[in-house]
Amino acid sequence: MDRAPLTAGSSFDLDLDSILERLRSRGARKVGLQAPEGLKRDLPGIAGLISEKTGHEVVISGDPCYGACDLDLILAEEVDVLVHLGHAELEEQPEKAIFVEVRMKEDLKEAVRNGAALLKSKKVGLSTTVQHSHQIGQALQVLKELGIDARIGEPCGRAKYPGQVLGCSYCTARSLDVEEYLFVGTGRFHPLGIALATGKRVVIADPATGEAAVIDPEPLLRQRFAAISRAWYERRFAVLVSKKPGQRRWETARRIKELGEAKGREMFLVYLDNIEPDRLLNLGFPAAVSTACPRVALDDAAKYDIPMLTPQEFEIMVGDRAWQDYEFDEIER
Ligand code: SF4
Repeated sequence: MDRAPLTAGSSFDLDLDSILERLRSRGARKVGLQAPEGLKRDLPGIAGLISEKTGHEVVISGDPCYGACDLDLILAEEVDVLVHLGHAELEEQPEKAIFVEVRMKEDLKEAVRNGAALLKSKKVGLSTTVQHSHQIGQALQVLKELGIDARIGEPCGRAKYPGQVLGCSYCTARSLDVEEYLFVGTGRFHPLGIALATGKRVVIADPATGEAAVIDPEPLLRQRFAAISRAWYERRFAVLVSKKPGQRRWETARRIKELGEAKGREMFLVYLDNIEPDRLLNLGFPAAVSTACPRVALDDAAKYDIPMLTPQEFEIMVGDRAWQDYEFDEIER
């Protein structure tokens, strides 16, 4: 099997043969190539190989890419096939797109053993991201050998694989009757999401470092409470709607606009692609509600001078939901 020349030291693995086969079967002559930021440096090497082996023109998408929800539809118009690397396919994607998942190569046994040492119970849910979903059986085995009753949620919501979570979808974790969770993966956003979506304790096992830690959602909750309190003093709100196909939530945005107006606020729908501070600055809104990727309000809050709320946080702000019923914002389809 031909392996793409991911950059030196890359922890990812890519099956180039299957990409070439899929391009052949579609009779593609012009190929678009898109990947999230962590894989962008690998794109010239992959583009060079596809071009060398097929003689096709390959065009790399230079715009930011945040998820499977974020296909470069403008590039797709220019090519026969758009190859989207690094994410599992979501439902209802354009015919032209092919999704190529990229797998992490690390052995996760050490991280899982270290994570198991931090667990307090024996009835545990196992969660991961798409990059490690092929190794979840290995993690399950390690936990079983340690006498832990580990369970994996069936695919649901936006998840294509058992136990998979996305930043906007925690259905596989919520579906389990367990006492705590072990998240296998890197970063803090997904385990925070599991903790807030389930209300349970979450241990992170990071295969990149082999280390484990317990996630504490309290600092995030304090920040969110502060943002809601700041926003309460404002009268005018932008309701942000993303142009990205898998983040475009018109129905939610219109519901939030109506709710705000019914509570005496001035609400404006704003349609945009990448949500960035300078774009909002020019519009001059003192507060905003983001109906786009939950990371905009929850992970990137520090980037904005104005309070940026999720739809559920706005409901709390206007008194339609109690703080005790705080819910993590999820996009289930
Ligand atoms: S909406 Fe956000 S978390 Fe969900 S798939 Fe897109 S980028 Fe990922």
